Parts: sequence; C-alpha cells; structure tokens
Amino acid sequence: VDAQRIVILGGGFAGAYCARELARHLRGTTRPVLLIDRNNYFVFHPLLVEAGTGHLEPRHTVVGLRAMIRPATFRMAEVVTFDPAAREVLIRIPELGRDERVAYDHLVVALGSVTRLPDVPGLREYAMEMKSLADAIALRDRMVRMLELADACMDQAARRSLLHLVVVGGNFTGAEVAGEFDAFIRSSRRHYRGIGPEDPRVTLVEHADRILPALGPDLGDYAADHMRRRGIDVITGDAAVAIEPGRIRLRSGRTLDARTVIWCAGIAPSPALAAMPLPRDDRGYILCERDLRVRGLTNVWGIGDAAVNPGPDGQAYPATAQHAVRQGIHCARNIACALSGRPTTPCDIVNQGSLAALGCRTGVARVFGVRLSGFWAWWLWRTVYLLKMPGLGRKLRVAMDWTLDLFAAPDPVGLGIHRPPRNDAVDYGSRRSTP
Ligand SMILES: Cc1cc2nc3c(=O)[nH]c(=O)nc-3n(C[C@H](O)[C@H](O)[C@H](O)COP(=O)(O)OP(=O)(O)OC[C@H]3O[C@@H](n4cnc5c(N)ncnc54)[C@H](O)[C@@H]3O)c2cc1C
Repeated sequence: VDAQRIVILGGGFAGAYCARELARHLRGTTRPVLLIDRNNYFVFHPLLVEAGTGHLEPRHTVVGLRAMIRPATFRMAEVVTFDPAAREVLIRIPELGRDERVAYDHLVVALGSVTRLPDVPGLREYAMEMKSLADAIALRDRMVRMLELADACMDQAARRSLLHLVVVGGNFTGAEVAGEFDAFIRSSRRHYRGIGPEDPRVTLVEHADRILPALGPDLGDYAADHMRRRGIDVITGDAAVAIEPGRIRLRSGRTLDARTVIWCAGIAPSPALAAMPLPRDDRGYILCERDLRVRGLTNVWGIGDAAVNPGPDGQAYPATAQHAVRQGIHCARNIACALSGRPTTPCDIVNQGSLAALGCRTGVARVFGVRLSGFWAWWLWRTVYLLKMPGLGRKLRVAMDWTLDLFAAPDPVGLGIHRPPRNDAVDYGSRRSTP
C-alpha cells in the first residue's frame, strides 16, 4: 500500500484540473498525485452534442487523462468507497475481478453527476440520455437509423413518428440537443427521396414557463422564437408523465407520437457517493465548507457537480464546467497550503456567463453581463470552447474539424453504436418495395 499520497477520485472538469494544478504546485517534492477514473479520458461535455451531429469528430471531444495530468499519475478503476479512519480508498478492477486499497493523505472527491431519472413510467426503458460520448454517438446512430427506416416507410403517420424526436428539459443541454439535432435531421433529408419536408419534427418540452432560464427572459424568449420559426415545437409549462413504446404523454393530456425521446431534465450526484462515509444533503450532494473541505473531515475535499460548495452569499454554486474547473484549481491550491501549514482560503467564483448553441449557426450568450444572440453568439460559443479545450493538439483538431465543417455538411452515417430501446418492436407501417 502506497503512503503519502494525494488521491483524486474522478477525472472530469473538477478532478482533472485539480490534478494538473497539484502536479504543478508539488513539482520538485516527493509527494505523488494519483487520479482514479473508470475511463482513461476526460470528456469535454460542452462539445458532446456536436460530436452527435457530426460537426466534430467524436474522438476530438475527449482528451487522454494520462497526458492531460502529467506528471501526476493515473489509475483506471471503479471507485467503490473510502475509509477515513484507515485513510484508504477501495477501488475495483472489474476485468480482474478483485478489489484493491489505495492509501491517501488527502482525498479529493470529484465524481460528478449522472442524469436524474425520476419515477416517470417508461423513462428508464424507452428514453435516451446525453451525458457521455457513447450517449452522443448512440443518439446519432438512432436518428440515422430512423431516417433509413422512414425512407422505406409508405405510411405517413408511421414515417412522422419515426422522425419525431422529443427532447425533455429546456435548459442548456436540452435546448442544444433540440436545435442541433433538428438541423442535422433536416439537412440529412436531402439524401432520402422518401422523406418529405414535413416529415421530420423535433419537440422540446420544458416544465417551466421559459427555456434556458439561466440566460434570463429575453434570451430564453429569443431562443424559443428562433426555434419555433425553424419548425421546432417548443412546449413550455408542461411535463412528461409517461413514456410508452412510440409515444410520450404530457401532464396537460397531450400525447406525442414519437419514436425517440431524449431526457435532459436535471442531474443527480454520482451514485457511488451513496456508499461513502460523507455528509450529504437530502438530494445526496456532498456538503462542503467554503474552502472546499468536506464538512467534518480535515483531509477530504469535495468539488464539482458532486458537491455543494457555498459561495459568499451561502448559495451553492451551479453545477457547470466553469465552476468545476475553478473549484478544481482552488482545491489544489488549498491542499498545497494545508500541506505546507499555511491557512486555506474560501473558494470565491465570479460567474463569467453562459452560452448555448441552437443549431443553424445561431446561439445565445450572456458573457460578463453582455447579451448576444444570433450568429455572433454562436461564433463566440465556438471560440470560447475552442480556447477552453485542454491541450494544443486537441485545439488544432477541433479547429480543423470546424474549418472543414464550413465547406462540407455532416453525412448521415452511423458509427455502429446502436442500442435498441425496446420500443423498436413496434410496427413501422407498410414498407416501400425495393426496386
Ligand atoms: C451534454 C452536456 C453539455 C454541457 N455543456 C456545458 C457548457 O456548455 N458549459 C458548462 O459550464 N457546463 C456544461 N455542462 C456541465 C458540465 O459538463 C459539468 O458541470 C461538469 O462536467 C462537472 O464536472 P465534474 O468534474 O464535477 O464531473 P464530470 O465531468 O462528470 O466528471 C466526473 C468523473 O468521475 C468519474 N466517475 C464517476 N463515478 C465513478 C466511479 N464510481 N469510479 C470511477 N470513476 C467515476 C466519471 O467517469 C467522470 O470522468 C454540460 C454537461 C453535459 C452533460
């Protein structure tokens, strides 16, 4: 068992940036920094939807963790729990069928979040998510498959149902999925003679009165109007109450005939936290002090989506990449202070703003209080995320993809990740015969 270690659980925005900063602070010392994650790559979530629509090569939205955090070290394993008395983390390597213990001096818990799946009947069986690279590719493959099936389908109602994508949740992820996938499906239509302009449909369902509430009413209204003008049905003040094979039922009594439902309505803390001896709030998030230490534990720190980190006003910071990165860097600095006997400092973060891409080279943005919409907001969205992408190599690949994308529209080709939801058993209607 190794001793004198700083161990970081989770290599997302919070954990990976914490490891990078710690490695920088502790360079020249003998204190090792180890990051543990179930995947050996960091996912740049803001670009996932573009990986799905093909504007970006999917592999270019992830970065290898070993290179990203060097000279900190990496271990690929499933985190099970930790023992604060023994100062050990329990990890599992499923392929080897065994558990191992890793010792720590300081432990950083940065295990992030998962999609919140409330008890809506049929949700777990029939809806898809947008949280991982595999989710993005699976949604792309699903829509390509629906285009192929619809092209050969004679029955108009069945064809429309095949090409109807319902997105539940009108915050950043939901709005981007609806806007970008609507553009993808419509631009792909030119390859299919059997699909008419009125066949593809995207519906966005949001339970609040407006979409994109974090951007304020004017930008939320702009985004909804823009989407409606493009033919997207934006339904506000309503909620999904049941998902059935080929159909989704809303609280208002409305029924939408749709073969694909994607659930983007909220997040929940990583399920791994439930087995850990951590103070948690009623939703399961880790309770932390203002310097990011977990309440009541001097050498355990909680950052990113998994933690409730209060700001100066006592309110928790929102679960965004922007906050996770800055918490990761601040946590590293506070650990360096704790190791050298200096006082730690509270993590104060000023929100720099938010951006969303809506497809068709249109976006909405509020940056340092300045509001932008339309083409320039979309341009800013791409520029900001290109600059934030870690590593020069990845930045160049993303820039190259986007440059090519200006001249060549994405192809409707799948990547072979087809996860058939059970509702695929439904009759597709009468088939066009192949000549
Ligand atoms: C589609 C999408 C778009 C987004 N767009 C934006 C945006 O434009 N701007 C913005 O600011 N935010 C955006 N976000 C939110 C942002 O991605 C999150 O706030 C951010 O990822 C949180 O970072 P984190 O490090 O806390 O968690 P994560 O990035 O989720 O990282 C957690 C890590 O822990 C690992 N892990 C979890 N459990 C275990 C376990 N038991 N064992 C081993 N490893 C484990 C995971 O593999 C993962 O690598 C978006 C999110 C999504 C899903």
